[in-house]
Amino acid sequence: MTELWALPRPSLAVVGSDDRFPVRRIYCVGRNYVDHIREMKEGDERDLPFFFQKPTDSLVESGDAVPYPPQTADLQYEGELVAAIGAPGADVSLSDATSIVFGYAAGIDLTRRDLQRDAVRASRPWEMGKSFDHSAPCGPITPAAGVPGIAAGELELTLNGERRQATRLDLMIWKVPEIIHHLSRQYRLEPGDLIYTGTPAGVGPVRAGDSIVVSITGLAPLEVTVR
Ligand code: MN
Repeated sequence: MTELWALPRPSLAVVGSDDRFPVRRIYCVGRNYVDHIREMKEGDERDLPFFFQKPTDSLVESGDAVPYPPQTADLQYEGELVAAIGAPGADVSLSDATSIVFGYAAGIDLTRRDLQRDAVRASRPWEMGKSFDHSAPCGPITPAAGVPGIAAGELELTLNGERRQATRLDLMIWKVPEIIHHLSRQYRLEPGDLIYTGTPAGVGPVRAGDSIVVSITGLAPLEVTVR
C-alpha cells in the first residue's frame, strides 16, 4: 500500500543538536498578561486561562518569510514564550508540570486582528483571526535543562529594529506549570505539543517588508520577515 501523497511533517530545530522536534499540536493561551488585557479592553485578569489552537502546518521557522495573509488589513504580531512538551500528560499536577516540558522557544502568535474583532463582536470563534496559514512562527527549541532560569527571564520584540514589546516573564498571570495543569485537564498532552503562553502589551500591526525579532533570555532568537 502506498499513500496517495506525502504530507509535510512540521518540525523545529533543537539548539545544540542535529535532532528535530516533530510538532503534533499547537496550543495558545489567550490573555495572560494584565497589561495586554488592559490594552485590548477585553476579558478579566481573574478568569481561568483559556486556549485555542493553530494548525500544525502553520509553523514558520526562524529565518523564513511570512506571506502577508489574505482577508485582513490588520495583521498583528504577538511575541510569546513557547513551551515545547516532551512527555505525555493528562490532568498533570502543578508539581509535575515542568517534568513534561522538553524545552522552550521564542514565538509569534500572528493575528488577523480585524477578523478576530469581527468574531468577538459576532460571538463567533476566534478561528479566522488566529488559525490561518503561516500564523505560527517559532524559533529553535532550547532544551529546558539549558535554561533553568527561564521563568525569571525577559521577552523583547522588535519591529524593524525598534522595540515594541518588552516584559518580564514572571508577569504572566498563569505561569507555565499552571498553564500545563489547566490545559492537560482539557486535552491529553503528548510529545510534540507546543504551547504559546500569551503576549504582553505593545501588540501592533505589521506590513509587507517588515522584519520581526523576538528575543528571550537564554533562548535562540526568532527572526521572520513579512513579504
Ligand atoms: Mn497570543
